[in-house]
Amino acid sequence: MKLLSVIVPCYNEEENVRDFYDELFKNESFFQQKEIEVEVIYVDDGSRDKTVEEVRKLHEEDNRVHMVSFSRNFGKEAAIYAGLQKARGDLVVMMDADLQDPPSLLPDMYGYIEEGYDSVATRRVTRKGEPPVRSFFARMFYRIMNKISRTEIVDGARDYRLMTRQVVDAILSMTEYNRFTKGIFGWVGYETKWLEYENIERRKGETKWSFWKLFLYSLEGITAFSTVPLTMAALLGALFCVLAFGMIVFIIVKTLIFGDPTSGWPSLVCIIMLVSGVQLFCLGIVGQYLSKTYMEVKKRPIYLVKEDI
Ligand code: UDP
Ligand code: MG
Repeated sequence: MKLLSVIVPCYNEEENVRDFYDELFKNESFFQQKEIEVEVIYVDDGSRDKTVEEVRKLHEEDNRVHMVSFSRNFGKEAAIYAGLQKARGDLVVMMDADLQDPPSLLPDMYGYIEEGYDSVATRRVTRKGEPPVRSFFARMFYRIMNKISRTEIVDGARDYRLMTRQVVDAILSMTEYNRFTKGIFGWVGYETKWLEYENIERRKGETKWSFWKLFLYSLEGITAFSTVPLTMAALLGALFCVLAFGMIVFIIVKTLIFGDPTSGWPSLVCIIMLVSGVQLFCLGIVGQYLSKTYMEVKKRPIYLVKEDI
């Protein structure tokens, strides 16, 4: 028998916990046919609704259901890490509780693992049902990210992935505090098969990601997987030096030929504003990296467990 661990991060998903369970075990006959034993690990990310109670009820009905519950909301990345740590399976799959990651894809995914792939990942090909502004910024983010990072980060990739134990252990070995999961998957490598599907809208409840949260998350991704902004800051500094040097020569020559009438205050103010703006911007970039380093150095735990069943 093979053991398959299903990790489900949940943050205020009381309405979806049972639906997810039902939907997953529609594959029961497939699991039996392939002799796959299943454990479901719900990771409660500090929900403030009845998610924990719902999972506990499921656990009493079916001992294949497990739960780790956090002391507060630590974010989906932390929930995934906790789930991976708890999973004992030879194969591990991560899925959202809202059924945006259809469990009906599992047999196909398993097929590719049998073919010899180490991990089977999914990406949505459409962004149907998403606000256009959000889609636009998401596209921009992926385009920039892939230019400035050597780690491949796929546009539209979901966290819905089936992985072998080897890949799971590789991910667990990355103990960093700032966890940008999409980058971590790309970074570890291994033979990955990509499956595509149409975007499915969340079953019940609402999304936990505001535009602002996504924006901060994208900055997280950039600082975690690229140091190009630092190089850019340095290049910008060099560029301004060269410009300034050119201007010095120009002014000396001009003064020698035409004398030195005092004028040009407005342009001087503009130049000072521009250059100090660029300086602050670059300082901000350095600050971003410094703050991430600061958090990393503290070595705080990625999550804290309140209950483990
Ligand atoms: N989630 C979580 N912690 C958070 C935010 C989200 O565990 O702080 C879970 C959430 O319960 C869901 C999954 O992550 O199972 C994806 O979240 P959501 O559906 O809100 O994101 P979207 O699909 O809109 O990108
Ligand atoms: Mg969702």
